[in-house]
Amino acid sequence: GPGGSSTVDSGSSAGPGSSSTVASGSSMDYGTLHTRTTRLAHALRAHGVRRGDRIAYLGPNHPSYLETLFAAGTLGAVFVPLNTRLTAPEIAYQLADSGAKILVYGPTHAGLVAGLPGNTDVRTYLEVGPEYEELLEAAATEPIDEPVTADDTCIIMYTSGTTGRPKGAMLTHGNLAWNAINVLVDTDLIADERALVSAPLFHTAGLNMLTLPVLLKGGTCVLVESFDPAATFDLIERHRITFMFGVPTMFDQLARHPRWADADLTSLRILTCGGSPVPSPLIAAYQERGLTFLQGYGMTEAAPGTLFLDAEHAVSKAGSAGVPHFFSDVRVVRPDLTPADVGETGEVVVRGPHVMPGYWGLPEETAAVFADGWFRSGDAARTDEDGYVYIVDRMKDMIISGGENIYPAEIEDLLLAHPDIVECAVIGIADDKWGEVPRAVVVPREGASLDPDEVLASLAGRLAKYKIPKSMVVADELPRTASGKLLKSRVRKRFGTNS
Ligand code: AMP
Ligand code: MG
Repeated sequence: GPGGSSTVDSGSSAGPGSSSTVASGSSMDYGTLHTRTTRLAHALRAHGVRRGDRIAYLGPNHPSYLETLFAAGTLGAVFVPLNTRLTAPEIAYQLADSGAKILVYGPTHAGLVAGLPGNTDVRTYLEVGPEYEELLEAAATEPIDEPVTADDTCIIMYTSGTTGRPKGAMLTHGNLAWNAINVLVDTDLIADERALVSAPLFHTAGLNMLTLPVLLKGGTCVLVESFDPAATFDLIERHRITFMFGVPTMFDQLARHPRWADADLTSLRILTCGGSPVPSPLIAAYQERGLTFLQGYGMTEAAPGTLFLDAEHAVSKAGSAGVPHFFSDVRVVRPDLTPADVGETGEVVVRGPHVMPGYWGLPEETAAVFADGWFRSGDAARTDEDGYVYIVDRMKDMIISGGENIYPAEIEDLLLAHPDIVECAVIGIADDKWGEVPRAVVVPREGASLDPDEVLASLAGRLAKYKIPKSMVVADELPRTASGKLLKSRVRKRFGTNS
């Protein structure tokens, strides 16, 4: 309700104590958030922001993040969250591509912002802190009556893009509302929820699966600048956290931490894990503490919630990404869009009110990812007889050898089980006879020496012969994005030629 606390900014480590509205450890109620948002909207309008203009934000989780998002929405302007791990040229590209007029940034990024090129459309640089507070202080508080419809773009969110240059997914107010409705229909979020927001708000999951649904219900969001296991235990205890969202590695770090054994986790009700399948040992470790995971599969372009696996089926359907959210159509299809049979691998396609209208300024790229109104995820999957979907691999990483489809993930899983292999990627290389054959690129454990013949021979009998890599390359490391996603295209470029 309006009297409740909407955001508590806990900073990275500092405890409560400061009384400033935006400093570490402060909290803000819904009334204050509304007033500050209205003031910021007035201030942005005074800086020339009009309907449809873009406003970018660069910084860690902080209440001003949400204020800027809501102020932009109030004006019918478009919010452009930027990934804090990007380099100056990457930030400059997204600013230029989106045509943002205003850049709001955290003091953490003042150095990077100072070094940005001047050839973008940015006219106003606004640093969060005293400058931002003075602007709000001086602004009006009358309600702003700018009609905004469900079809208006609310956010342009750049996809992490493991191939090519990043594309800005346009998410409308309707897309975000329907995604939040899906979350609220399919989970038991309540008005008293106290959510720990350590996932970055510039990623679709942290914003749309966690923060916005909780705020819609009138719950509390505890904003944290970055994930740290020890601090997480403190925050759970101090704020009696009920709801957490994260990727599997985050939950894994908690379970391996010395505090795990005696931390008070009794307040936790809902743990949501997304981005990749949750390994069974992790599910088991949490179950021993009486905690179960809700799992999610989605993508930036779908705002993002698409499939979910409820806690009840975490064990019986382990490895599955679940079933479609209530207001979402999901199919696994053949290349001609006809539904694949049970057990047959096809591509995941999505349709529904939460799916983006397209990529910003890229009509051809947009046309290429839609077919008959279905968004093509590029993910390969199969369904079981109960309709549960299992994600197999990325479609474009598939290798076709002698007419047989090979999904690298299957081979990679087996290679990773080898005691001397810490990382691996399987790619297709050109072959006169078969068209393509698989090649393994592996990173050995430190100090270990790998014998390719021995490694490949160990796969015999466990994989069909055509799936066993015909060659193996030992590498020092594999190319990855800042967020740790494997860059298969670069692996192919570097290790995929016949030499
Ligand atoms: P992004 O482009 O960053 O929005 O990431 C979306 C992609 O992450 C999807 O197309 C999938 O390839 C992957 N992904 C997301 N959730 C899952 C999941 N639960 N299991 C497997 N892959 C996932
Ligand atoms: Mg994607």
